[in-house]
Amino acid sequence: MHTSANHEQIASRLSGLSPQQRQLLTQRLQKKMVNGHTAIAQTLKRLKVTHVYGISGTPIDETLAAIAQEGIRPIGVHDQQAATLMSTAQNYITGRLTSVAICSAGPAITNATTGILVAKDNGWPLVVLGGRRSLKMQGMGCFQDLDAVNLFQSLTKYVGLVDSTKQIPIALAQAVQIAMSGRPGPVYLDITEDALKGDTIASCPELVSPQSFPGIDGDAIEQAAKLLLTAKHPAVILGKGLRWSAPYAEVRQLVEDLQIPFVTSPMGRGSLPDDHPLCYNAVRSLLLSQADLVLLLGARLDWTFRYGAEIPATAKLIQVDIHAPEIGHNIPLAVGIVGDVKQVLQQLLTQLDRQRPVSNCSGVRAEWFRQLDRQRQQTLMGWEIGAQAEKLPMSPQRLIAAIRDEIPKDAICAIDGNVILAAAQQLLPSYLPASRFTPGTNGCMGVGVPFGIAAKLAYPDRPVIVITGDLAFGFNAMELETAVRLKIPAIFIIANNEGHGIAMRYSNLYPKDYPDRVTMFQPNIRYEQIMTACGGHGEFVDHPHQIKAALARSIASGLPACINVAIDPFAPYPQ
Ligand code: ADP
Repeated sequence: MHTSANHEQIASRLSGLSPQQRQLLTQRLQKKMVNGHTAIAQTLKRLKVTHVYGISGTPIDETLAAIAQEGIRPIGVHDQQAATLMSTAQNYITGRLTSVAICSAGPAITNATTGILVAKDNGWPLVVLGGRRSLKMQGMGCFQDLDAVNLFQSLTKYVGLVDSTKQIPIALAQAVQIAMSGRPGPVYLDITEDALKGDTIASCPELVSPQSFPGIDGDAIEQAAKLLLTAKHPAVILGKGLRWSAPYAEVRQLVEDLQIPFVTSPMGRGSLPDDHPLCYNAVRSLLLSQADLVLLLGARLDWTFRYGAEIPATAKLIQVDIHAPEIGHNIPLAVGIVGDVKQVLQQLLTQLDRQRPVSNCSGVRAEWFRQLDRQRQQTLMGWEIGAQAEKLPMSPQRLIAAIRDEIPKDAICAIDGNVILAAAQQLLPSYLPASRFTPGTNGCMGVGVPFGIAAKLAYPDRPVIVITGDLAFGFNAMELETAVRLKIPAIFIIANNEGHGIAMRYSNLYPKDYPDRVTMFQPNIRYEQIMTACGGHGEFVDHPHQIKAALARSIASGLPACINVAIDPFAPYPQ
């Protein structure tokens, strides 16, 4: 508890009290007053935050300690980029804001930028608290001085300056609310040293529900239902925006009742299991190019879906999105519905029930399904044949096939990199919602290790496997130490193809006799020794038949484990 000269002054002004009464009153006042560090910790606790990611440093070192005292787990990392990536990944995988990131000042805050950008581009909630030197000293050249409010204007949903201790509870509650409402995203708060050092009465404002959606347009629902019932070749696209209201039962009912084939975005995988008979991810382009109606749920038609170019211009598009400016983005719509996807689907299912006796085309699709099934089977078989080639060094596909055969269906997989990601998209199925991480909307390399650590912290009882290229691994490699120190037994598999994935293409850009390896690293780097040096379990693998035993030993060790796998640097890109 912080002692404050102010309290004594107030108490002593209350003339007429005896010295003993004055002392009593002062003590009482002090009991209710906390400093800024404790106010942050207590407010985060009331907001149901369970983890805080960051690196201790002035002026937030006492804040992290206060957080620990409140029973929230501080996760000390090696780089603030990892802190923000871990925090936003934990929030995504738990489906609400259960963690925040905290950074000291100056460069510690600029290091956090990449995670903030990832949260913004992925539409994931994140609250970052940054320390700020006293505003009275601004411009004097103080240590690690930075105006981060200016810096983060374009990268966040909201950025605020907290310069008084009593603002802390309301500022934090609002930050969480803004981060979670509508399309989720990042919020940054600059908290000054004066605010951290001062005193306030500990209280947390009541929060109204962050999810207050606009009314859903009933006419649009009716029109959407009619289009769905009369389409000959409808298709559904499922994206990672489904995470926030988790309408997986409604999605299943819709596609199964109307027998509509669906595809998912990379992180939408598992919204319905990949082995669902109506899942046509393997022939996405074919499906979308033949569709006469596409229903877009929690996904954007950005580069991931080639800006909608796979969908014929004659097809009708129904888009459901909580973010009004997203409606009609990149493609003209037949129907646009602003609202939460779960609420929209519930109304749509009711409306479909009402209209269904009038017309339902689902019976006339048998021939289309036969054709799609044939093509899907051929594609899957082609991928499988490629994945079984025993050539050494092994291909990325061979590695993924070997891992796939060993991991349980409830595993959470964080896949990071380029060629290894392409191989995993083909060969590694996903069976549960929000159980697959990729570099995401902005293709951020380096997310695999921090995402995997956050996933294991959020779900200690589920297996967590990080599969990362060696370039991507390097960005946050030191977080292996974090995993060991904090006893987070995720498994980190490195597809080590000596550098950038498409070595062949890159090397052709340089003269034949160019002396340096620019896009490739040294051969045979023993990355697993970073893990063993930190006290974890390490394995080196150069034959696919060794994968099973290496995984078994890794799991049996009970430690975080790193399996470094030699991959052919010149393997062709998985097609
Ligand atoms: P993907 O990469 O899987 O295609 P995106 O992140 O590009 O997914 O798109 C997700 C979309 O989902 C965003 O446009 C976002 O506004 C939207 N979204 C987020 N939450 C909801 C929700 N509760 N209801 C409807 N749409 C949502």
